Amino acid sequence: MGATLKMLIDGALVDGESTLDVVNPATAKHYATVACASAAQADAAIAAAKKAQPAWAALPFKTRAEYLVKLADALDGKAEDLARSLVQEQGKPLPEAQAEIAYAAIFLRSFAAMELPVEVLQDDADLKVEMHYRPLGVVVGIAPWNFPVLIAFNKVAPAILLGNTMVLKPAPTTPVTTLMVGELAKEILPPGVLNIIVDRNDLGAHLTSHPDVAKVSFTGSTATGKKVAASAASSLKRLTLELGGNDAGVVLDDVDVKKVAKGVVDSAFMNAGQVCIALKRLYVADEIYDEMCDELAKLVSDLQYGDGLEQGVRVGPLQNEMQYKKAQAYLEHAANDGKIIAGGTTGDGEGYFIRPTVVRDIDDASPLVQEEQFAPILPVLRYSDVEEVIERANDTNLGLGGSVWSSSIDRAYDYAQRIDSGTVWINHHTHFAPHIPFGGSKESGIGVEFSTHGLSEFAQKSVISINRR
Ligand code: NAD
Repeated sequence: MGATLKMLIDGALVDGESTLDVVNPATAKHYATVACASAAQADAAIAAAKKAQPAWAALPFKTRAEYLVKLADALDGKAEDLARSLVQEQGKPLPEAQAEIAYAAIFLRSFAAMELPVEVLQDDADLKVEMHYRPLGVVVGIAPWNFPVLIAFNKVAPAILLGNTMVLKPAPTTPVTTLMVGELAKEILPPGVLNIIVDRNDLGAHLTSHPDVAKVSFTGSTATGKKVAASAASSLKRLTLELGGNDAGVVLDDVDVKKVAKGVVDSAFMNAGQVCIALKRLYVADEIYDEMCDELAKLVSDLQYGDGLEQGVRVGPLQNEMQYKKAQAYLEHAANDGKIIAGGTTGDGEGYFIRPTVVRDIDDASPLVQEEQFAPILPVLRYSDVEEVIERANDTNLGLGGSVWSSSIDRAYDYAQRIDSGTVWINHHTHFAPHIPFGGSKESGIGVEFSTHGLSEFAQKSVISINRR
């Protein structure tokens, strides 16, 4: 990619006070250079958002919804360019990148069709009491590197629909495609409504503690989420935190092994395992453990890894060097703590490749089981007592998702209700959609995104009470 991509501040595409080089993880070589903001430019973005907010909030709700639809149309119009850029900065296979861009447009349209009308809570001779959903003001959106565009615009859509304005900050290793969408947004949205700045992992605290910011919508690791909560505390900013997960899948003894193995692989190896709601630990009943391990080893050995632009590739590289090094450490744990039955080494080539890996006979105490691996390495654990396995599944500080797999929905439903997580799937894993609230229990987050529940987190619930006596 040639020219330095610019940031979007106050309706203008601007250079940064410095630049940032972005690496293609499939080659470990330079892919693009982007503008990078100083603290003064972050302040300028917040000031632009603050200035634009009253006029934006004064527009009819329907007009703001029409802007979202125009943005969705623009994404669809540039979908192929955006998807190819996403592959080169993020690493995922092209079909997954195409799906990410398509989903970002779908989410924009879905939010545009939602409403939060005034709710009448009481209407009688004594009182009329209404609840209004008012904009909060300036919202800061902070995105991670695993789904840079989808996660960013899942924050932009509800925030600006409700009359807030926004400063969006992508992760430093994946800013390119987000800035390309910024170029599109410049032609559509009024100045200041959406500002996009890039940092080198140094402006997060500045943005989340800024006195003119009313809300922070953050997606990233649990460790960083705790820092965001601490820095937002000084002015009690509204917070939505979507954080890490270590999702367990529990397979009961009555399943069709081949069918379940395919569903497990589709979840655990999507985006090279770098999905917050990927299946990250698989617990399998003793009676079918060997058969399941054999089937998983066969399917995973057949997964083609490589550059996401190559046809047929199912698993791309890890997104960045730091994650690649973490994944290598998990491979060592896999070798020491269990038996590797597929993959088990780094891949060929210069890029950050890990061969898709399955590990059996591994202990619950292994870091590969205890921690979020965020890598294409699946531990498969054995159980004989289903009551006890629910306890093992819940024995974590995280609670984003989980799943139960069974031929009997009634059996699965009973156990599903006992898994402590924001979502529990039965006979699938990782499904999400704009109309379904999404969030984590325990240290996987605070609040929800998507649906009118998620939308309402971008509003101040404000009561008007009229005395009629
Ligand atoms: P990260 O926490 O390292 O970074 C996320 C973002 O926070 C980046 O934009 C980063 O620049 C920014 N940041 C860094 N320091 C900050 C600070 N002090 N204050 C504010 N922002 C700061 O996370 P990551 O490694 O990019 O993403 C991977 C993690 O995200 C995984 O744990 C994954 O499970 C989680 N995740 C969660 C969800 C969800 O919806 N729950 C979705 C995707 C990813």
